[in-house]
Amino acid sequence: MSECLFCKIAAGDIPSNKLYEDPVCLAFHDIDPQAPTHFLVIPKAHLASVAEITEDNNAVAAHIFSVISKLTKELGLESYRVVSNIGEQAGQSVPHLHFHVLAGRDMTWPPG
Ligand code: 5GP
Ligand code: ZN
Repeated sequence: MSECLFCKIAAGDIPSNKLYEDPVCLAFHDIDPQAPTHFLVIPKAHLASVAEITEDNNAVAAHIFSVISKLTKELGLESYRVVSNIGEQAGQSVPHLHFHVLAGRDMTWPPG
């Protein structure tokens, strides 16, 4: 079995507060929310980060962005931020591709 935390969440071996699921991806609330709305969208198939997206597998990223667009509309979110951290220096703590969706408070730029 994979040792990857988000692979385990995708497989249902570790519980999560699910928002959306289809055969390709899963959206679930972040365990340590940084905004009133903070959920993650992950592919079910393991990729370590955006750095592993290629011409051959980019359909999963396009699908995830269409899911983010749909879910945020359903949640009535008109303004939100989508973030993906790649590598330790950028703050990636879980090495399975994920997009943070944050909303519900004023955000600053540049991010810390
Ligand atoms: P990263 O730091 O890699 O950009 O984002 C990983 C995110 O996963 C963090 O925001 C962290 O709070 C969240 N996270 C870590 N472990 C779990 C978990 O077991 N369940 C959920 N729902 N979120 C988690
Ligand atoms: Zn994984």
